[in-house]
Amino acid sequence: MFIDIHTHVQQFIENDLDLLINNSINSKIEIIIAAGTTISDSKKTIELSKKYELIYSAVGIHPQNIFDENTNDYINILEGLLSNNKTIMISEIGLDIQPDSPDINIQKEFFSNQIGLARDFNLPIAFHVRNAEKEALDLLETENIKDLISVAHYFLGDYEYAKRLLDNNIYISVAKPFLRDNNLAEVISKLPLDKLVIETDSYPQYFKKNRMRWTEPKDLIIIVKKLSEIFNKNEDEVREIILCNSKKILKV
Ligand SMILES: [Zn+2]
Repeated sequence: MFIDIHTHVQQFIENDLDLLINNSINSKIEIIIAAGTTISDSKKTIELSKKYELIYSAVGIHPQNIFDENTNDYINILEGLLSNNKTIMISEIGLDIQPDSPDINIQKEFFSNQIGLARDFNLPIAFHVRNAEKEALDLLETENIKDLISVAHYFLGDYEYAKRLLDNNIYISVAKPFLRDNNLAEVISKLPLDKLVIETDSYPQYFKKNRMRWTEPKDLIIIVKKLSEIFNKNEDEVREIILCNSKKILKV
């Protein structure tokens, strides 16, 4: 059994999603977290969670999508979405510094407010960080993130960054890049297995013409295989530890 702790499967069109669900069931994927990026995208994760047994919902506003919708009242709206009993996480939230990103202070305000929401409802968070490792960790430490269950999604950092995440009791989520990136694999091999979880961050990849090559939750199998290699441990054992970590985070 596997849990995909971070995806955007709600963004697939119906036919592609049906194939993804079938592939997931055949690959023993037990739970797929669909993470929202805007209010309307978060609502889609709820619709899917009602339609598919294995899909659970996470709601949140991604730092890159802050201005996509009129979201002045976003905390109240997100709070309203939490009444769905399969909405079990606040995600995707975080900080992302790129030339076209929203102002960093506004990003920090959205990030903090959504962490507050998670705290009020005793929910775990999964957060995104791009080019903002220091800013994110400073904010997370100010927010006393140690007391909250949290996941650093799509880890691509170095050992120093990982160490600071671990010092703050943050789980580290590993995706496919370390299958090809030996330096990243080396960093991950030094981390404690009981703080690792896995994800695919699946979203529709129209730029890949061959549909069979799109990243899907079924790819968790190759992630676990690679982890077992770099940790020099039995595949079943690694899968069980990771599954146990994910269940503890999601309280499922
Ligand atoms: Zn994502």
